[in-house]
Amino acid sequence: MKLRADNCIFVFRGFGGRIMKKTGSVRNFTRQIKVGDLRIGGDAPVSVQSMTNVPTGDVDAVIEQVRLLAGKGAEIVRVAVPDMKSARALAGIIERSPVPIVSDIHFDPELALAALESGTHKLRLNPGNIRRRADVAKIAEKAAEKGVPIRIGVNSGSIPGDLREKYGGVNGDSMWAAAERHLEIFREVKFENVVLSLKASSAMLTVEANERAAAECDNPIHLGVTEAGPDLTGSVRSAVAMSILLSRGIGDTLRVSLSGDPIIEPMVGWEILSALGLRRRFPRVVSCPTCARTRMDVAGVAAAVRDLLAGIEGDMTVAVMGCEVNGPGEAREAEIALIGTPSGLRLFVDGKPSGDAVGDDLPGLLLHAVEAYISRNTHRED
Ligand code: SF4
Repeated sequence: MKLRADNCIFVFRGFGGRIMKKTGSVRNFTRQIKVGDLRIGGDAPVSVQSMTNVPTGDVDAVIEQVRLLAGKGAEIVRVAVPDMKSARALAGIIERSPVPIVSDIHFDPELALAALESGTHKLRLNPGNIRRRADVAKIAEKAAEKGVPIRIGVNSGSIPGDLREKYGGVNGDSMWAAAERHLEIFREVKFENVVLSLKASSAMLTVEANERAAAECDNPIHLGVTEAGPDLTGSVRSAVAMSILLSRGIGDTLRVSLSGDPIIEPMVGWEILSALGLRRRFPRVVSCPTCARTRMDVAGVAAAVRDLLAGIEGDMTVAVMGCEVNGPGEAREAEIALIGTPSGLRLFVDGKPSGDAVGDDLPGLLLHAVEAYISRNTHRED
């Protein structure tokens, strides 16, 4: 494994070896690829992805969802391409999409070729169901012609039977072997524009498989836990796996996969990156857990503020605190704070009281305060 970092001294022993003298954050060195205008791997920041769940053939519905996801911070959006109607619809989607589009292909290599013809920015292939060397080589040849990268997306649920038998079931070794088998074909046809993902529904198997991949190759790695579950379960499983991997320097892009409406996927992705200190793009919301002293609807206001702020660019902290016990302390740490006090709700800006907060629309009031703060500070920088 190679390592890189801006502020640290580091050495490496090549793949499989890992030594570092750590004085700053360290990331596994990977080669860089481009998806549309977005870079993945190398010195690019870890990017956040999501996926639509409306029929891909319905271009208007897809575009509406892509715009919503991009508004919440998705920098790349994947669409499923289950049939030729979907493959043909891609051209219209790509023309109107604000972010690069990835085509998710299973079983049928012709769909991959059609997606490339439609101008897809990237392909995702599952080595578990597009296995023939000739098919993979043909797709790679056309992708090379178009300058389009391909993700080899290994899922623990579709590891070929011979590999499961050879390695004693579904584990890090059989998952890596499935990826390696496809990588070998790409290497033979000299196609290097490849991203890898190795996803399992188990967080710790996902960690094991990705650590193996990072030790074996320098392809950029897309992180994700598959079939992670609905919002709470899926967010926790994804955060556990991704935090372990990212804190070990592994991972160049990520998608938090959740059952249902994908709109919170990019929001959870950003929370993970922000909590790890890897990237802060949107305001961070902190709020107290509430107790018998609570003087306001902390949970409701904090959730509404979080939803309103997702997608508003600004590295700052907004605190919502139910009473004066911990409120002033948090207010000092936060750029904007709303605190319940015996004499009413108080708004703090940069740790200083900035008047009473009155009216029913507390989330709206905080949003307004944040926008004014960002605008003031942006103009100051100008
Ligand atoms: S800040 Fe006040 S209301 Fe919130 S948990 Fe602490 S003591 Fe309770």
